[in-house]
Amino acid sequence: MITDVLIIGNGPAGLASAITLRQHGASVTVVHRPAVDVIRAGESLAASARYSLIELDLWDDFLAAAHPPCYGNSSCWGDDRLFFYDFIQSSFGEGWYLNRTAFQSMMLQKAVAAGVTLIETNRAFGLTREGMRWQYTEGHSHINAATIIDASGRNSWLSRQLGIKRIREDNQVAVVSLLASSNPLRSQQSLIEAVPDGWWYVSEGGEGKVVRIFFTDPDLHDRADWLDPLYWRRKSTQTRFVKHRVPVSRYSDVLPLQYTSAGSHHLEHYAGEGWLAAGDAACAFDPLSSHGIAFALRSGIDAGLAAKDELAGISAAGTHYHQKIQLAFHLYGEQRADLYGKETRWKDHPYWVRRHGEQKSAVAKDNVIIG
Ligand SMILES: Cc1cc2nc3c(=O)[nH]c(=O)nc-3n(C[C@H](O)[C@H](O)[C@H](O)COP(=O)(O)OP(=O)(O)OC[C@H]3O[C@@H](n4cnc5c(N)ncnc54)[C@H](O)[C@@H]3O)c2cc1C
Repeated sequence: MITDVLIIGNGPAGLASAITLRQHGASVTVVHRPAVDVIRAGESLAASARYSLIELDLWDDFLAAAHPPCYGNSSCWGDDRLFFYDFIQSSFGEGWYLNRTAFQSMMLQKAVAAGVTLIETNRAFGLTREGMRWQYTEGHSHINAATIIDASGRNSWLSRQLGIKRIREDNQVAVVSLLASSNPLRSQQSLIEAVPDGWWYVSEGGEGKVVRIFFTDPDLHDRADWLDPLYWRRKSTQTRFVKHRVPVSRYSDVLPLQYTSAGSHHLEHYAGEGWLAAGDAACAFDPLSSHGIAFALRSGIDAGLAAKDELAGISAAGTHYHQKIQLAFHLYGEQRADLYGKETRWKDHPYWVRRHGEQKSAVAKDNVIIG
């Protein structure tokens, strides 16, 4: 099979690239893994994503899906008191609690209707550069493509294959619980609460469920505790506010706990000869920033536009794309330092020491390379 652009991954970044490329007449093939049952509930979509959805001609479909609005955040951060930030103060207005399954199916339907070829595979595949084109091989099937977009999420599959360095800013992980109650408490605000060894996030999980996530560093807890749901329940009772929002006497786990990487990292290069990286494959953001999905959509569109320009012989398109993503990650770095810098109650605790200004610049000199 011959295609103009091969995209690895069918998350928001990959599908945004695919739809954009089809809008400009390029042929597109997306290879993806079978869907797995992970807790994606509780993710909020920043209001700024509206512009990407309009560009992708998805805005009406998005509104029709009636994702619950998210009117603001309450946070206990840098102070023992709870503060409320109302999104009415933001020029973009309120965001949404995303039903990720409905969102994914909306994007998939649009991509298929636009003529994108989707290939699901669970098998290992190989990639070689032949002249100016790529040859993708899986068993006996071959795909020949001019350009590849890596949209494989935090896994950064293509970048690993090409040996592009991934630079890690921290090791943060998330312990994710989906909780339900026969008598749930209602709230249309998310709750963030900083504690000595990390921070909690509580959000709508849909159908009366609640998502409770603890963000921390792996070395701050004993190995045995990681797998013990009771340990995390007990920890939540030591909070000031989370314990009232999700009382352990009232809520129980619906699914086993999930652990996932939730730190910040970025590639050394976001584009090269015949390839571009978009979404988490290019830069993974701390969920505190709420940038992830909005960035995946924006960078997916931009990678699609750059790939379209490269196909038209505009050789500087990849460099311009690289510079745009570099700037986005730089601005995020400043925002992240500012947010963590506001929490000074546990200045000596390793979790906060690692995220505060002086130490951060010390880490920056010696960033850990993970790819
Ligand atoms: C705990 C947690 C909470 C979060 N909360 C929020 C939030 O509230 N708001 C927000 O905006 N963001 C949030 N994020 C971030 C958000 O989930 C991601 O930024 C977003 O999903 C990135 O989209 P993507 O398309 O780049 O990657 P993904 O959504 O990860 O999609 C990548 C796809 O590629 C596929 N894939 C991987 N490897 C291969 C391969 N080799 N071949 C084929 N396919 C492959 C995967 O199966 C997957 O379907 C959170 C992240 C975490 C970890």
